[in-house]
Amino acid sequence: MTVPEPIEWDEEVEGRYERLELMPWWDSARVRASKFLVVGAGAIGNEVLKNLALLGAGTIYIVDNDDVERTNLARSVLFRESDEGENKAVAAAQALRALNPDVQVIPLPKSLQEVVGVGLVRICNAVIGCVDNVPARLHLDKLAWLAGVDHLDGAISALGFQIQPFDHSLPQSHRYADLLPEGVVAGGVSCRDIQIRAHQGGHIATTPLSASLCGAFLVQEALKRLHQNGEGRPRPLRGHALVGQGFSNDYVLERFPPASKEAQPPSRTLVLDSDWGSTSLGEMVDLVQDSLGSKYAILDIGVETKIEATCPACQTVHPILSPDWFLGDLAGVCCDQEGFDPSWGLAVAEGGHIHKGLPALDLSPKAWSLPPMHEYLGMAPDCDEVLILSFKEDRTAFEKRFGGP
Ligand SMILES: [Zn+2]
Repeated sequence: MTVPEPIEWDEEVEGRYERLELMPWWDSARVRASKFLVVGAGAIGNEVLKNLALLGAGTIYIVDNDDVERTNLARSVLFRESDEGENKAVAAAQALRALNPDVQVIPLPKSLQEVVGVGLVRICNAVIGCVDNVPARLHLDKLAWLAGVDHLDGAISALGFQIQPFDHSLPQSHRYADLLPEGVVAGGVSCRDIQIRAHQGGHIATTPLSASLCGAFLVQEALKRLHQNGEGRPRPLRGHALVGQGFSNDYVLERFPPASKEAQPPSRTLVLDSDWGSTSLGEMVDLVQDSLGSKYAILDIGVETKIEATCPACQTVHPILSPDWFLGDLAGVCCDQEGFDPSWGLAVAEGGHIHKGLPALDLSPKAWSLPPMHEYLGMAPDCDEVLILSFKEDRTAFEKRFGGP
């Protein structure tokens, strides 16, 4: 009887990313150094995060202030029953660390408006929007546009998905607002029903199937953009939405409608030697007025903010300092009011424009619930230049609070 020779295994141990490195255009160093901001860790977000982690993306920031619910479990590959009640960004981060310990994951368990400033977007290679409502898409797109960073937006229905790339790293990009029904010209984007339904509050039929397709295409676009320099590289999707309708087998590219393609105005940067908790908005308005040489100058904080609310029963004025979407939190503030309704008198900084004469200007951006690493615009009607204000110490403050790469 002959004993078979032991099989000689190849000495070389296969590296984790070996099959990825076989793609001639793949650049491991570039992927390892990459940073992505993923907003929303629901059905689409789970798929996007899973793909980014498998590919070995360097740093992933995850934004979500919702908790994992039982209904998420049928569509979210990263969540387990034991995650119920845990914040989605935190639960997703734990799963990603187990999936690939090479990846630095930073969960930001807050709302987009509270935690993501232009400065955070600016340090990322792309932002991937996995949100289910129009206001969040508009806000994220504005941040990405100001930062000059590409914004990839995804949406799903039961068997349908849609991805929309906004190439803000290029001059004169489309804005998300260009695609909204008001701005859509005849024959333009026909997939707006997804956006409209998404605007109605999240309770739409979705499946892990559409989420998986959507997440795969979003990350594929992010990856292509990361590698876009030089010959032989995959070509990013630009100026079109990719729309898939599995129900009717329609998978098409839809050209974006003509857009205003608003160019960035000339700007000058002013970096303040402090952080967002130690300078008041009033001081910032003064600084803008002095720097632009205009007493009409205003400070744009980037988000419409309610400043004071007057109780309809007793006329007491309450400071709020919150953007629109937090008004629900006013329940029980005064006279056992059940919550905010239009009978409350409101002082508003419309369009996020801060000028002298508004209340609470002695408070800092932090006290106004504005995010760290934000950038503020100073502008005046009699001045062509825009001033961009930021805080030197904000990144340190941000990393101390949330962690950093
Ligand atoms: Zn009252």
